[in-house]
Amino acid sequence: MPILTFQKFEERFKDHYPEDKWKLVEKAAKLAFEAHSGQFRKNGQPYFEHALKVGTNLAQMELDAETIAAGLLHDVVEDTELHKNQIRKKFGPKVAHLVEGVTKLDKIKIERKFPFFRAKKQKLEDLERQFETFRKMFLAMSKDVRVILVKMADRLHNMETLEALSAPKKEQLAQETLEIYAPIAYRLGMSGLRAHFEDLAFRYLYPREYQWVNKLAIPEISQREKYLKQVRKVLGKELTKAKIPHQIDIRAKHWYSIYQKLLRKNKDISQIYDLVALRVVVKKVEDCYNVLGIIHKFWTPLIGRIKDYIALPKPNGYQSLHTTVFALRGKIAEIQIRTEKMNYQAEFGVAAHWHYAEGKKSRLMPKDKLVWLKELARFQKRISDPTSLDEALKLDFFKDRIFVFTPKGDVKDLPAGATPIDFAYTVHTDIGNHCAGSIVNGKMGKLDVLLQNGDVVRIIINPKASPKQDWLQFVKTQLARSQIKKCVKNYNE
Ligand code: MN
Repeated sequence: MPILTFQKFEERFKDHYPEDKWKLVEKAAKLAFEAHSGQFRKNGQPYFEHALKVGTNLAQMELDAETIAAGLLHDVVEDTELHKNQIRKKFGPKVAHLVEGVTKLDKIKIERKFPFFRAKKQKLEDLERQFETFRKMFLAMSKDVRVILVKMADRLHNMETLEALSAPKKEQLAQETLEIYAPIAYRLGMSGLRAHFEDLAFRYLYPREYQWVNKLAIPEISQREKYLKQVRKVLGKELTKAKIPHQIDIRAKHWYSIYQKLLRKNKDISQIYDLVALRVVVKKVEDCYNVLGIIHKFWTPLIGRIKDYIALPKPNGYQSLHTTVFALRGKIAEIQIRTEKMNYQAEFGVAAHWHYAEGKKSRLMPKDKLVWLKELARFQKRISDPTSLDEALKLDFFKDRIFVFTPKGDVKDLPAGATPIDFAYTVHTDIGNHCAGSIVNGKMGKLDVLLQNGDVVRIIINPKASPKQDWLQFVKTQLARSQIKKCVKNYNE
């Protein structure tokens, strides 16, 4: 019973939000329930349960009420009669903007051409370039990081309920998840989600490899866990003696990352030192270094394996101290040390900042939030200087690029302001040189129209057509410009 499910959802999350904010969530759930009534998913579930599951995933990430409302409504514009203006009227521009963003992102689909891992090297590079373009387009089209988070929550549930779909559909979703969603989750610092995505996709796309890794790693993991439990006991006693409040977990790597590491280490599992690691979580940053000192006092570290990601965070914001030591009986143990906040951030990444922003105890100053998001922007090689939170949430790393599709679904990366002529030259010089017209999103278009993110562009070719001098007034790319100049007779600078 869907209504019962919503009650559970409410019981679980209502207290986390101010009353007026929760009203928005309630209203969204009600509308989604009505709009999807009579619709069922392939596995027979009422469609509303999917919407609610997406809302649940977002509420678990402790995102703001607008994002959860958008999650509940994410399929409403696409799959029901409801128009987006109604969403705007009922829920305001913020929610409407998020829902529209998600609907737009649904256009991005890649088709699996052949197994990635078994591809020849050159093909592999081509594919990797394509995937990278898809990732960029995904970010470019999202505009607001919350749009991506809704899409991630949506994809997670779709991957968890993959079974009922047709084989080609399964394959497509799994491939996209592995090549687009997981890497973006990683870039946003959401390693929990990334691991989940990778393992769900890995299991489906490469079942033989998945089985192989399982068979190889399970006995090894359980052996090392046994050993690390002994190390934990000794270390825990020392930390208590030193009066450092702490918690020590034992964590195994996820399957897909074990698989990738095996490929790099000649399939020798004994070479994967961090297959299982101890994770020491403390309260304060100083304690991280104190713990490291205590560990190194007792056990000799391996040269070159001490990493200070606290002083030098990874580009996606990850912070921790790592060391590998010869621990009890001279056996190798990998130890990670971090604060509670770093631990939370490592799991939830960009989503973590709402936890600190809207949580009852605000443990992070607003300034820190901006630093984190700036960190992200730096990674994308575009340092922006956000002056407000709303600014910081905007994903404008690619605001000067647009991404458009060929009719076959390939993506072309063009500068903002590019026209069908630029597009034509990007596809092939001959296509540019004989370009006679364009069809953008199924409609005849002029040659000087400005292309938008996500447009599908078809070029009409006439063998008799040739470049015109006045094209130079509107083309944007250097490629088009130089080709046109070559062809226009008697052209003078
Ligand atoms: Mn959906």
